[in-house]
Amino acid sequence: DGLIWFDGELVPWRDAKVHVLTHTLHYGMGCFEGVRAYQTPEGPAIFRLQEHTDRLFRSAHILNMKMPFTKEQVNDAQIQAVRENGLDEAYLRPMAFLGSEGMGLRADNLQVHLIVAAWHWPSYMSPEAREKGIKVRTSSYTRHHVNITMCKAKANGNYINSMLALNEAIASGCEEALLLDNEGYVAEGSGENIFILRDGILHTPELTSCLEGITRKSILEFARELGIPVRERRITRDEVYIADEAFFTGTAAEVLPIRELDGRIIGEGKRGPVTEKLQGMYFDAVKGKRPQ
Ligand code: PLP
Repeated sequence: DGLIWFDGELVPWRDAKVHVLTHTLHYGMGCFEGVRAYQTPEGPAIFRLQEHTDRLFRSAHILNMKMPFTKEQVNDAQIQAVRENGLDEAYLRPMAFLGSEGMGLRADNLQVHLIVAAWHWPSYMSPEAREKGIKVRTSSYTRHHVNITMCKAKANGNYINSMLALNEAIASGCEEALLLDNEGYVAEGSGENIFILRDGILHTPELTSCLEGITRKSILEFARELGIPVRERRITRDEVYIADEAFFTGTAAEVLPIRELDGRIIGEGKRGPVTEKLQGMYFDAVKGKRPQ
């Protein structure tokens, strides 16, 4: 039930359909965002709306897809999707995709469509995971295809290895996957950026093999505010094993402690104090309890 914003109109959920020959369904060229709205003292508010819209447009630009709407219209579409569905908290999925006018790999003559769906999705992981942390496995699938050429785009086609990695992790009794880059350095989770804390210094991979996460950026701001030194640099897998604390960040996962990687306990094997502090600051920010 509910309404989906589809090419400028709000249509009932069940009618928001595409043809089986939709180009993106066949070849995977499209781009999307994952956005959240939270309840704040001023009513429901979309966290970092403009940043998500900007990244969607950057992704489309990288893919050479011409967005048929302005940024203002895309912002407004997201606001409408939350409001018209009467949601107080929501996950939002804007997605730009190519139409069914033609097959083959030529894309310049295809129409670009845009949808924004919004639904209630309270927590990606259990509330327990937020407190106790999760078990992660380094994946046999890498982020290699995304490095350099495409890591700035949140493109549909970039998620094949992420999906394979996550499902492999779940099948082996873990909750998330850690993907390495082409050269074997730590890249990111299936849909999250990673941070580690060692000797009071926060480290996160530089932006060559991971998505330019909006939550990552918030965490870097909070760390600076707390006076925690931050290093954006290449991280090795074994540095995660011996970290004092480690956590993932993402719009869906929010701030998620990692308690174990590949069977090695990280730090005390539970949410560390710095993770807890940054997590608290993040929840305050999204709920409008801190200046934005
Ligand atoms: N890395 C990948 C591969 C993602 O899909 C996401 C989610 O969008 C992130 C990192 C985290 O980005 P953000 O904090 O902007 O949600």
